Amino acid sequence: MSPQRIAIRGNLLDFTAEPAWGDTESGAVRFRPDHWLLIDAGRIVAVQADAPDAGWPREDHAGRLLLPGFIDTHVHSPQLDVIGSYGTALLDWLETFTFPAERRYADADVAEQGAAVFLDALLARGTTAAVVFPTVHKVSADRLFGAAQARGMRLVAGKVLMDRHAPDGLRDDVAQAERDCLDLIARWHGTDRLAYAVTVRFAPTSTPEQLAMAGALCRDDPTLYMQTHVAENRDEVRWVGELFPQARSYLDVYAAAGLLHRRSVLAHGIWLDDADRAALRDAGAQIAHSPSSNLFLGSGLFDWRAAEAAGAAVSLACDVGGGTDLSMTATMRDAYKVQALAGQRLTAWKALYAATRGAAVALELDHEIGSFEPGRLADVCVWDWASEPVGARRMAVARSLHEKLFAWITLADRSNLVSTRVAGVERYRRPVTGVP
Ligand SMILES: [Zn+2]
Repeated sequence: MSPQRIAIRGNLLDFTAEPAWGDTESGAVRFRPDHWLLIDAGRIVAVQADAPDAGWPREDHAGRLLLPGFIDTHVHSPQLDVIGSYGTALLDWLETFTFPAERRYADADVAEQGAAVFLDALLARGTTAAVVFPTVHKVSADRLFGAAQARGMRLVAGKVLMDRHAPDGLRDDVAQAERDCLDLIARWHGTDRLAYAVTVRFAPTSTPEQLAMAGALCRDDPTLYMQTHVAENRDEVRWVGELFPQARSYLDVYAAAGLLHRRSVLAHGIWLDDADRAALRDAGAQIAHSPSSNLFLGSGLFDWRAAEAAGAAVSLACDVGGGTDLSMTATMRDAYKVQALAGQRLTAWKALYAATRGAAVALELDHEIGSFEPGRLADVCVWDWASEPVGARRMAVARSLHEKLFAWITLADRSNLVSTRVAGVERYRRPVTGVP
């Protein structure tokens, strides 16, 4: 455990506002080289250029990069075991790989061990907060919350709802699902840094009755989150059209059920139209853009600029196991590539903002996470600019801060991560012998 007070020296980078599209010289970027970050009782209390007085224990990371912990707004904890599954698109990928992996999480020991491996893997990649799908099993959510609590992490999660179009062992029913949700909400929502998300897998796997129940939960408690998938794949969109012929669009299925609100996190949103984007804006909901997954499953290219132009919030997510890497730097570089295919250029600032303060704002958690503002909980990562000679040479020739950060995003992996603190407590430290 770390001491109550600690002062960390390094090059601090965070954001004071949302950077504009294409702006490589953004006033929203706050870079404070060779500063001290002062942490007391888990919270950031000051950032200063001068060394603190002798009463402060110190950690000197001069020259290293300090970032707020990354926030991943969409990831599936039980899907670590199916990363890199060959040869399928969304619907047959679910059937062939994902559902069998998720069925194992009915077992409490499997769920507990899986949650520990998953959360430690996030921390070893600089992700300190996440919005997570466990499985349909109540115990999978319970053990995930417990493991996050033990690590002091900010986690938003909930038992997955699916009462149709899923195999045996992975279906609930409306009444049992409602009881499970209410139990989990009572136990975990607002406990420490945990919050409950009403978790609809996606429209095809819930009956209209289950969607109505989920919407009622949200209506009864507006502090609950809602997470689901929307408009990821064209076959899926067609299927939703057949299952819900009265809905104007896929997104409209959720809106009609009362599932579209300020605390809704919808993964993908590739095949949306202008009316959908306006509905997202009006509801204050966000899209969890999952570029690695979208490329890997061949789902499509998300139009980030159209979403932003419509006023809809966009955050970044790895979506493992459709995504191929839990790392948020890997997610950022895939996001850049997706935008490049559409002739757009995603700056390092837009990418980093979306994975820190932007996600925090969209989740209504910016009073707690996403920046180095005094009063925030100290979720802080220390990064090396380079972990081997290729990166070192690239950093040495960077002519601007943006060029340096962009190249860093392109090259950085978990071997660049020196340490991860969650609410001031060190939860990951790179072994001296190298990354295991
Ligand atoms: Zn997903």
